[in-house]
Amino acid sequence: MPINEKGVVCCVNHPRRPMVRNSGFSAITAAEPSATGVVFNSSRGVPIVVFSCDECGYVESYAANKMSGWSEFVREGSVGADASHGFELKVFDALRLIGSRVGADAFETHVVFTGGMGRREVDAVMYLRHVIYVFEVKSNSSAGVVGVGALQARDAARVVSRFRNAVADHRRVAPVLVVPAGASVSNLAKAEEVPVLRYDFLKRRFENAEIVFGGLLRAEG
Ligand SMILES: [Zn+2]
Repeated sequence: MPINEKGVVCCVNHPRRPMVRNSGFSAITAAEPSATGVVFNSSRGVPIVVFSCDECGYVESYAANKMSGWSEFVREGSVGADASHGFELKVFDALRLIGSRVGADAFETHVVFTGGMGRREVDAVMYLRHVIYVFEVKSNSSAGVVGVGALQARDAARVVSRFRNAVADHRRVAPVLVVPAGASVSNLAKAEEVPVLRYDFLKRRFENAEIVFGGLLRAEG
């Protein structure tokens, strides 16, 4: 709304004052229904550009795709998305290998669960005799991503648990977060109660597979 005839975004309270564009792009996070109430899904939302008035603090936003720099930004992102897709595929390979060593009944990726709580896609699920592991894979190990990943893993495990209970399968369902090797310990500490597997992309193996599969790998001898 407050763009003047010269194309400059000005404050509604101070029509002569150009607003300052926040660097880069931002997003309005999606709100989604869940069994436990409304949750904010930080992986979905509307990309925007934010401007603010440095006199009164008024904030204005515009759809990012109408603003300069957006197409370059998306191109850069698609390179990142390719890299994270590659990371995920390698992690799936490594999990499949471990699954075959520990006698998993099945290993499935991108499993979609639909029902009362809506639609939920889970990165990977491994079915073992006494336990079902639910994996959330993150190709980035920043503190925020690890924290959100742990919550998503726990939530995914709850969803899978409900589905299995509905078909009288009462195996324990355990969440596991997978991140790249080298994630800092302080970040991982925030992933409360959810075990964090670290995958070494160069060595093509988990650094700490024993934290999840220890007993099973030992039993195998
Ligand atoms: Zn103002």
